[in-house]
Amino acid sequence: MKLDNNVAVVTGAGSGIGRQIALTLARQGARVAIADIDMDGASETVEQIRQDRGREAMAVHMDVTNEAEVTESMDAVAKRFGRIDTLVSNAGIQIVHPIQDFPYAQFQKLMDIHVGGAFLTTKAAVKHMYPQGSGSLIYMGSVHSHEASPLKSAYVAAKHAILGLARVMAKEGAEHGVRSNVICPGFVKTPLVEKQIPEQAHDLGISEEEVVNRVMLGDTVDQTFTTVQDVADVAAFLAGFETNALTGQSIIVSHGWCMK
Ligand code: NAD
Repeated sequence: MKLDNNVAVVTGAGSGIGRQIALTLARQGARVAIADIDMDGASETVEQIRQDRGREAMAVHMDVTNEAEVTESMDAVAKRFGRIDTLVSNAGIQIVHPIQDFPYAQFQKLMDIHVGGAFLTTKAAVKHMYPQGSGSLIYMGSVHSHEASPLKSAYVAAKHAILGLARVMAKEGAEHGVRSNVICPGFVKTPLVEKQIPEQAHDLGISEEEVVNRVMLGDTVDQTFTTVQDVADVAAFLAGFETNALTGQSIIVSHGWCMK
C-alpha cells in the first residue's frame, strides 16, 4: 500500500477531521499516533483503527501548546515506531466574538493552539525527519487562511499565520527532503462547527438555518458541506507525495467557496 512503512503523527485526532485523517492514513498502511488532550477521544480513534483494518496505532497525550510535552510525546512515537514520516498539525479550536467583545486571553489561547501548536510540533518532528532525509509536514489551514469572515479575528489571523509557517518550512525543509503543505477546508460538520452555529446566529442576529445556508454554504458551488473524508483524502495524498515538486502549497477543499 502507498503508505506502508509511513509513520504519522496526527494532532487533534481524537475527534472530527483529525480522526478521519488518522483512519485514512492507517487504511493506506501507515502506523499512526493519535495525539490529543482528549484521551477518551484518542483511545476511541485507536480502537476504530484496530477494528477497521487491525493496524497498529497509539494514543499519546499531547497538549500542542506545551513544548516539553510535545517533544516528549513526539520522541515516544519515534521510539515505538522507529521514525516519523508525516506530521499532520490539525489540533484546533474556534472562538467567535465581535472584536470589541473578544477577550484578549481567548485570542491568545486560540493563537497558542493553532500557531504555537503548529510551530512546536514542527520543531519536534523535524528533529526526526531531517536525519532521515525525508518527511511531510501537513498543516490544517482553512478557507480562512485566504478569506476573512466577521467575528473570527483570532481564527482568521491564526489560519493566515499557518500559511506563512508552512511556506518557511517548505524552504527550510527542502534540503532535508521535507515537504510542507497546507490543507484549507471549507465548512465541515464536526463538533467545532456544530458549536458555532447557535453562537453565530446569536452574534449576527439571524436564524441557525441562515447561518448554515447563507454564512457557511452561501458561496459554495452546490450548497454542500465538505466532509471529513474529503479532507482526509487530501491528507493521504500529501503524505504519499514523494518529491519537493509539491511543497509550499495550500490545497483548498471547499466546494468552490474559495477559488485561488
Ligand atoms: P474538533 O473539535 O472535532 O477536533 C479538534 C481536536 O483538537 C479535538 O480532539 C481536541 O481535543 C483537539 N485539541 C484542542 N486543543 C488541543 C490542544 N491544545 N492540544 C492537542 N489537541 C487539542 O474540530 P475539527 O473541526 O475536526 O477541526 C480540526 C482542524 O480543522 C482545526 O485546526 C480546525 O481549525 C480545522 N478546520 C475545521 C473546519 C471545519 O469546518 N470543521 C474547517 C476548516 C478547518
